[in-house]
Amino acid sequence: HDVSTVTRQKNCKVSGPHVSYTENEVQATLQLQRTLVHTLPDGSVEARPEQLVYEFCTKLKPSKLGLMLVGWGGNNGSTVTAGIVANREDISWESCRGMERPNLFGSLSQHGTLRLGITADGTDVFVPFKSLLPLVEPKDIVLSGWDISGYNLAEAMDRAQILEPDLKKKLRPYLADMKPLPGIFDEQFIAKNQLPRADNVIKTSDKAQQVEIIRQDIRKFKQQHQLDFVVVVWTANSERYSMELAGVNDTAENLLKAISSSHKEVSPSTLYAVASILEGCPYVNGSPQNTFVPGCIQLAEEKQVFIVGDDFKSGQTKMKSVLVDYLVGSGMKVESMVTYNHLGNNDMFQLTDGEMWKPKSAAKSRVIEDIVGSNGTLYKEDEMPDHVVVVRYVPSYGDSKSDVSEYVTRTFMNCPYRMVMYNNCLDSALCAPLILDLAIFTELFHRVSYRTLDMKDFVPMYPVLSALSFYMKIPRTPLGEPHVNALQRQRACMENLFRALVGLNGEDNLFLQTKFP
Ligand code: NAD
Repeated sequence: HDVSTVTRQKNCKVSGPHVSYTENEVQATLQLQRTLVHTLPDGSVEARPEQLVYEFCTKLKPSKLGLMLVGWGGNNGSTVTAGIVANREDISWESCRGMERPNLFGSLSQHGTLRLGITADGTDVFVPFKSLLPLVEPKDIVLSGWDISGYNLAEAMDRAQILEPDLKKKLRPYLADMKPLPGIFDEQFIAKNQLPRADNVIKTSDKAQQVEIIRQDIRKFKQQHQLDFVVVVWTANSERYSMELAGVNDTAENLLKAISSSHKEVSPSTLYAVASILEGCPYVNGSPQNTFVPGCIQLAEEKQVFIVGDDFKSGQTKMKSVLVDYLVGSGMKVESMVTYNHLGNNDMFQLTDGEMWKPKSAAKSRVIEDIVGSNGTLYKEDEMPDHVVVVRYVPSYGDSKSDVSEYVTRTFMNCPYRMVMYNNCLDSALCAPLILDLAIFTELFHRVSYRTLDMKDFVPMYPVLSALSFYMKIPRTPLGEPHVNALQRQRACMENLFRALVGLNGEDNLFLQTKFP
């Protein structure tokens, strides 16, 4: 039986009455079903399928995309930049393994495939995501950003100690001219141990002026490179939480007023986010702090600008959201998860400050909530597995992050199932492809509009862009949408959204015709 798959299709068009392509766009009409659940007076539940009709319109031409990174000179910032440039310039390098070629492994937009369908003789056909809808090519992305450290990107790449010497040597001429713009610095929101590197900061402490400078930076960047669209991604250090205060950051209007009076609880990250939103640029928060205070979310909603958050889901938390999904999904009861991490990069150094660690700790501990909550036969209401995360700074490890996790699970007749897992990877090698994807997919969703039967005009997607939850530890969702942490559910959302935009129903893995021939 032939089960081989076709995986290198360049272009893929859908035909049929519900989809039409013009030179500029693809329009698709889709009947979707959702299941509405009601609790009846006797406590039982009733599920009722409901039909929804959506029309989607997606522009086919990718924008000329600019990507601005806050924390450009950090390990993530310099690694993603080096990777994009090495791929663009096709730079090979010599390592102890021989000659190595550049690639963008780890990126769904470049190497992810989805199951398109089945051939008449029963062969699954998989195609790359980018063959269904055109995406911006990484080589065409123009990079810029801010950093409170004045190192150029070649120096930053050296400081990060991630890439091989021969590769760094070949990249240096390209990266040396890339210099981060001065960043917004506020001692209150960053660990004291970062003070020595803060030599490239915006001179004024007036927060309204800081926002204005960031806005000007974005405008200049756009103009200089004739860009259609800019995405801003925070990959700077985790900040402490800012206090959420009535009258200060609870509404968009109050937040803008608080910025005018330089209120001390408006964090640098919120200032970058506000500046981006006011410039119409989506803002992605790659760290766990509460950048998106209610007023900031309201501003994004009012201005119809995408926000994506919070905290990149790259390593151990990603594994957890797979492993616990497998265990609980198989009807086993996870009792405890204990993880020891150690690494020695600058971000970990700054997280040794207790105030900065709080948001990270909270983000790490929440990654399995929906999975446990999905199984009321194993867990009582409010019952959670013991979950401990220990993190230690070990300078000699640099960006190489090791973690050892022990999972204790009860299976049949309470028998223990003990599992120990060891992970080791360069932290930034895990994160760089996520940053690339977040920019590329955000640009795609910016080209999408939709309407339902009761709407006259097509409108953009909702500004809180939960479609990218796959990349986030604590996915930010619009009111009324649950948080989904389970990685495969998050991936299925991406896959099915891509399918929907070209008029294909969601993947059901049923193979009905062979099961019920
Ligand atoms: P890093 O310390 O190497 O880089 C952060 C950079 O941000 C530094 O160069 C610093 O000078 C700069 N910076 C700090 N505050 C700034 C400000 N207000 N404005 C402009 N620049 C500022 O850290 P990293 O390893 O690149 O990680 C970056 C962020 O990504 C961290 O917040 C981390 O928690 C988050 N993150 C990383 C991973 C991962 O690497 N796998 C996973 C999840 C989240």
